[in-house]
Amino acid sequence: MSRCLAERAIDHVVLERGEVAHTWRTERWDSLRLLTPNWQSRLPGFGYSGDDPDGYRTVPEVIDFIAGYAKAIAAPVRTHTRVTSVRGGETGYLVRTDQGDWNCRAVVLASGACNIAQVPAFAGEAPSSIEQLTARDYRNPGRLAASGVLVVGASASGTQIANEIQRSGRPVVLSVGEHIRAPRVYRGKDLQWWMDAAGVLDERYDEVDDIKRARRVPSLQLAGTPDRSTLDLNALTAIGVKLVGRIAGIRGGTAQFAGSLRNMCALSDLKMGRLLDLIDEWARNNGIDDIVEPPQRLPPTRVEEAPPLGLDLTAGAIKTIIWATGYQPDYSWLELPVFDRKGAIRHDGGVVCLPGAYLIGAPFLRRRKSTLIDGAGDDARDLSAHLASYLDSGRARIVA
Ligand SMILES: Cc1cc2nc3c(=O)[nH]c(=O)nc-3n(C[C@H](O)[C@H](O)[C@H](O)COP(=O)(O)OP(=O)(O)OC[C@H]3O[C@@H](n4cnc5c(N)ncnc54)[C@H](O)[C@@H]3O)c2cc1C
Repeated sequence: MSRCLAERAIDHVVLERGEVAHTWRTERWDSLRLLTPNWQSRLPGFGYSGDDPDGYRTVPEVIDFIAGYAKAIAAPVRTHTRVTSVRGGETGYLVRTDQGDWNCRAVVLASGACNIAQVPAFAGEAPSSIEQLTARDYRNPGRLAASGVLVVGASASGTQIANEIQRSGRPVVLSVGEHIRAPRVYRGKDLQWWMDAAGVLDERYDEVDDIKRARRVPSLQLAGTPDRSTLDLNALTAIGVKLVGRIAGIRGGTAQFAGSLRNMCALSDLKMGRLLDLIDEWARNNGIDDIVEPPQRLPPTRVEEAPPLGLDLTAGAIKTIIWATGYQPDYSWLELPVFDRKGAIRHDGGVVCLPGAYLIGAPFLRRRKSTLIDGAGDDARDLSAHLASYLDSGRARIVA
């Protein structure tokens, strides 16, 4: 957004509570690699120029990439400046920080979509002998007790964490809710390449049937490993991970699981099949069907006949629970009348319901790819154009 505002000669400042790329410095586990290939992290005027376009960045590489971008575009970032409140002001908005106040005509909320790890309220019912972590706090298996681990959530974070913990010798039970299975490589090309080429990632927020639902869809079960292997539930059960259904509660020291595991997996297989059908159709229609490898389908997800519906957390076999159950933003500092009944910001593709206020970096904000680093560029181009015309119209006013 800063780069796009600068292109339009709009005077601005970027306020950051930590260092540039703060979330990547402080909120990721050690072994994480991007699940998007190097070529795919395109920021305005800044592409990948290394010799491994199909590789996946490690966390230190992501930090270098984002910090390098901020430097290359000379972004006017004020680091170690925490925004403590945003409210209506004389010029439009009054932004309070721990380093002084700012008055501005327009404000862009870019504080991230994953500030808080979501944990169900019943987590408090777990026995006190169990250590509980979220995917945001988790760093590596070596920091866990040398015992069994219950990982809750089987999307990108949960499957990656379950995989490395199981491989460390700690037996993992994985609680599986709604998830989206995906092959890493399909017909010889990265799945992200297909989704990019076929326009899946460019699908717009005003084109989908149910945008509220689309914004809640979990991340694809993908991992960016050097061997480009598929990390689905079959890969996990093959190394000994035990699958159970969606966690429904903890009562009397026992974790209780829904009996829907089989259905969840069948649904996920079905959705993967639909995505691959769409890709095959696109390949046929675009003349590359004969150039790439032939279509293939993965075998159905293997689920045991009667997966357990309960797990005794007092028996000593499980000493840790890791909640990989999604994230949510933290807008506790936002003192503007912009929230709906559920506490979400009311906006139309990032144009917030108050004049001069914008949102960026939220799932499916304007396009399916808005969730990814790669989506920021197009969203920023659109929203900076809107913001520029708002400023030109001279409509800045007191908002609250
Ligand atoms: C575990 C995980 C893995 C991911 N993997 C991928 C991937 O493989 N590929 C991909 O493309 N995307 C991935 N993403 C998504 C990616 O993180 C986002 O697309 C991208 O980071 C969004 O950038 P952002 O600047 O909008 O938000 P963030 O990176 O969250 O940055 C928000 C910034 O705002 C600052 N901030 C927050 N509150 C305040 C405040 N009150 N005052 C001042 N500053 C504040 C924070 O310190 C932070 O630096 C992943 C996300 C997670 C959580």
